[in-house]
Amino acid sequence: MKLFAMFNDIVRNLFRKPATRNYPYEKRPDFPGTRGRLMIDPTNCIYCGICAKKCPSNAITVTRKPDQSWQFDRFRCIVCAACVEACPKKCLRMAPRTEKYPDEE
Ligand code: SF4
Ligand code: SF4
Repeated sequence: MKLFAMFNDIVRNLFRKPATRNYPYEKRPDFPGTRGRLMIDPTNCIYCGICAKKCPSNAITVTRKPDQSWQFDRFRCIVCAACVEACPKKCLRMAPRTEKYPDEE
C-alpha cells in the first residue's frame, strides 16, 4: 500500500514544474506593491539637498562645498520613496529589488 502511494507521488512529480527555481539565473519577480530599492541617475542632480531634507531616516547626505557629492546609506533606508517624490530633477527612482547598485557585482 505504501509502495503504491509512493509510486503515485513519483508519477505526479514527473509532470510537475519544479518547486524551486534556478537561482541566480532565474530570479523571482517582485511582489505587487514592493517598492524595491533607491537608485539615482546623477546626471541631472543639482545637489539641492531636498532629498536629504525629506529623508526620515537620514540615509542621504548631500554636499555642495568644497565638492559636490550625493551619498546614500542603503542600510538606513526604509524604502519610503519620500526622496523620489521630492526630487525636482527626477533623478531618483525606486528600482526592482533585483537591480544592482553600481558597486555591486
Ligand atoms: S533632490 Fe534630486 S536634484 Fe536635489 S540633491 Fe537630491 S537627487 Fe539631487
Ligand atoms: S526611500 Fe525614504 S528612507 Fe530611503 S533614502 Fe529615500 S527618503 Fe530616505
